Order: sequence, then C-alpha cells, then structure tokens
Amino acid sequence: MNSYRSLRIALLGAGSVGSQVARLLLEQHDELAARVGAPLELVGIGVRDVDAPRDVDLPRELLTTDLGTLVAGADIVVELLGGIEPARGLLLDAIAAGADVVTANKALVAAHGPELFQAAETVGAQVAYEAAVGGAIPIIRPLEQSLAGDRVTRVMGIVNGTTNFILDRMHTEGSSLEEALRIATELGYAEADPTADIEGFDAASKATILASLAFHTEVPASRVHREGITGVTDAMVQQAERNGRVLKLVAICERLPGEPGGDARDRVSARVHPVSLPATHPLAAVHEAMNAIFVTAESAGDLMFYGAGAGGPETASAVLGDLVSIARRHVAGGPGMPGSTHAKLGLAPFGDVVARHEVALTVSDRPGVLAAVAGLFSEQGVSVESVRQDPTDGSAALVLGTHAASEARIADVLEALEAHTDVERIDSVIRLID
Ligand code: NAP
Repeated sequence: MNSYRSLRIALLGAGSVGSQVARLLLEQHDELAARVGAPLELVGIGVRDVDAPRDVDLPRELLTTDLGTLVAGADIVVELLGGIEPARGLLLDAIAAGADVVTANKALVAAHGPELFQAAETVGAQVAYEAAVGGAIPIIRPLEQSLAGDRVTRVMGIVNGTTNFILDRMHTEGSSLEEALRIATELGYAEADPTADIEGFDAASKATILASLAFHTEVPASRVHREGITGVTDAMVQQAERNGRVLKLVAICERLPGEPGGDARDRVSARVHPVSLPATHPLAAVHEAMNAIFVTAESAGDLMFYGAGAGGPETASAVLGDLVSIARRHVAGGPGMPGSTHAKLGLAPFGDVVARHEVALTVSDRPGVLAAVAGLFSEQGVSVESVRQDPTDGSAALVLGTHAASEARIADVLEALEAHTDVERIDSVIRLID
C-alpha cells in the first residue's frame, strides 16, 4: 500500500462543480490513492452557507465558511468558487504557503493568470486549470505538453455552450434569438443574467487563455477583440442557410505575419465574434451546448477536440485530472511546471486581421446605386467577389461578398456606406470562414 503521507486537499466551493469533485474524492478515495501513490484526504470544503441545499450529500463536518484557515493547512487547494475575489486572494495565500492550486475559474485565469503563475514559480508550486476552457475537454494539457514541440498556428473553437445552443436553435428550429435564449435559460444552459455568455465575455476569457498557451505569449484579456451574438438576426441565419452555411460564435487565436516594415516576427491575434462557416466545416457539426476546439499546428496538422464544455460531473472530470497529476508530482518530488511565455510575440490590432466579409444593405431602389455602392468598396481597396440584389418596396436589399480584406479596410467601407445618401441602413456584416 502507499507509504507516502496523505495529501491534504482543501476544496473551495461546493456548487455544481465543487459538489461533484467532493463526491468523487470521497467515493473514489481508494482508487485515486492507488493512482497517485498517496491518499487524497479532503480536509474541508469552503462555502458561503453550510446549510445551503447541495446537489450531493456531503459530510456536514467538512463544510466551513472559514476559507482562510482551510487554505492555510493544505497541500493542494482546489478553487471552484468562481469570480475574482475572494478566489484570487485565497489562491495567492495558498501558493505563498507552498500549496499547489487547481482552478476551473476562466475569469480569474484570464485576468490574473500571470500573477498566479509568477507567484507559483517563485515557490516551485503549480497552477493547473484544465477545466477553465472547454469543461471536460482536454485542451490545456495538449497545448501545454503534447504540442510543446510543435508550432501552433491557429486555435479556433466554439468555447461557449450557451451561445452555441442559442445559434443552433435559431438554425434547427427557426427560433428567434430571444426565444432560443429563453429555452436556454429554462434548460439551465444560461444564467439568470446571460450577459457574460451572449456578449462574448466568457469566450473572450477562454481566448486569452488559449492564445497565451498556444503562442507562449501573454495575451491580456483587454487585447482580445470581442463581439457577442446579440446582433445576430433571423435574416442573417436565413441568409447563411441559403448559402449552405451556419453561424457560430467562435474564439480565434492565430499567428499573423509581422508588422510590414517593422518587427518581422509573427504577431498574435485573439478575437471572439460570430462567423459564417460552410455546413461541411467540422465546427458546423457542433450542436446544442457542446464545445469543440480546432487546433492547427505546423507538423501535427489539424486536430479537433470535442466534448461537453460545462456540467458539474463533466467539469469535475477535468478538475480531478489536474488534481491527480499534481498529487503525483508531490509524491515524485520536484517543483511545479512553470508557465511558458518566452516567445513574447507582439499583439496585432484587430484592424490587421484579414477575412472575407458579407455585407447586407438596404439601399434606395434607383438606377446606378449598385455601381455607387460597389465603388465605395473599391475606393477602400476592398474587392467585391459577389453581389445579390432583391428588390423590395421602394428599396433594394443588397448582399455583397468581399474577397479577403483587412478589418481596418472593412471598417472604412462601413463608415463610407453609412454616410452615403442611397444607403438606408447596413443590415448585417458577417465574417466568412472557409
Ligand atoms: P456555483 O454552482 O455557483 O458554486 C459556487 C460555490 O462557491 C458555492 O458552493 C458557493 O457557496 C461557493 N462560494 C462562492 N463565493 C463564495 C465566497 N465568497 N465564500 C465562500 N464560498 C463561496 O459555481 P460552479 O458552477 O460550480 O462553478 C465553479 C467554477 O467552475 C467557476 O469558476 C466556473 O466558471 C467554473 N466552471 C464551471 C462550469 C460548470 O459547468 N458549472 C464549467 C467550467 C468551469 P454556497 O454553496 O454556500 O453558496
């Protein structure tokens, strides 16, 4: 049997994920001990209210509201509180006392990851956060370890289940965004306040984490371009479908070429916005609240990681994976693995990102308007690839597809369109991915 002493595990939070982690630690105690080479002793569970109803029956004597004392005596702290404080302060205290930490908190890792990693490196501790992106999907470790010898060029993923559920409903059921959001809330996919999901904040946190890991470069959350799904209309969904396409909210992290005439080294771009994908694209087949992350690396080629992006037991699987791996290192000895930000690549402004766009407009229905509108595109150096025109009552609906053009050029085109007397309104702008 094990000769190594028990490892003291402090669990912070007993909500959807924390209660499942506690259950697994208690139910699978012997098997986990055998895998680690030391028993994992759950010494306490920090909560706000020890009497609150829980998804899992937990031993009352383990629950405490004194999180500071709980953290002080632990070998490994598992943080499943959510939010920035008190999570950040408690983890910094734990690390300062020499503990390793596991967290599923994407908001915290995105906003304060470098601070936590630096603190851990100073004392030889480890910060693990597999569950912070893609729930059950192993994506952090593949980027950090399996692909450590390769050169990742792009990470593109559906990393928010709520918005994927909503867009999927709009396509498959013809629901409006509002109806789809209401169903997502009823089914427990969306929070009472859905802002973090539908405005893209949650996906942007994940883009920060993925881009930093993939390109060995700190990518602050403030440098991630973010657009949510609130601008997606029924007409955009129908337009995509007419062209054999599907709308998805994606996080895209990629290497862009160095600045023309400046630093020749690649730059990093991280962004979140809706895209129109061909229905045959692997990400188009990701339905309901599922997540998938598509990674392209120079030698490995295309890799796709698919699975449940949320859910108590599913997310607990990733947390337990981190816990076992950290506990094994305790038994084996040696310091934690530091974060890798050695590349220190520059960050490209969103305006430098290049994509094909589809712009839908309502214009006055008079001769010469089409040529005038197309002229506005070419004046900005944006070449138009396709035009479709549908006359309506006194107006005309135009859909112009562009060749690849920078976001800066497209922004200039949109400004010129808005100022043009024949343009009644810009109905939608969507980026196309092939
Ligand atoms: P949750 O259900 O809201 O549970 C939060 C837990 O933390 C509760 O037990 C709560 O105590 C406790 N807590 C919160 N603030 C506290 C404070 N100030 N002091 C003491 N206890 C406090 O959250 P969750 O869904 O399990 O999520 C936990 C973390 O996992 C979050 O960072 C989330 O982003 C991440 N995550 C969740 C999922 C998912 O599917 N749910 C997926 C991936 C990642 P009481 O119970 O007493 O109120």
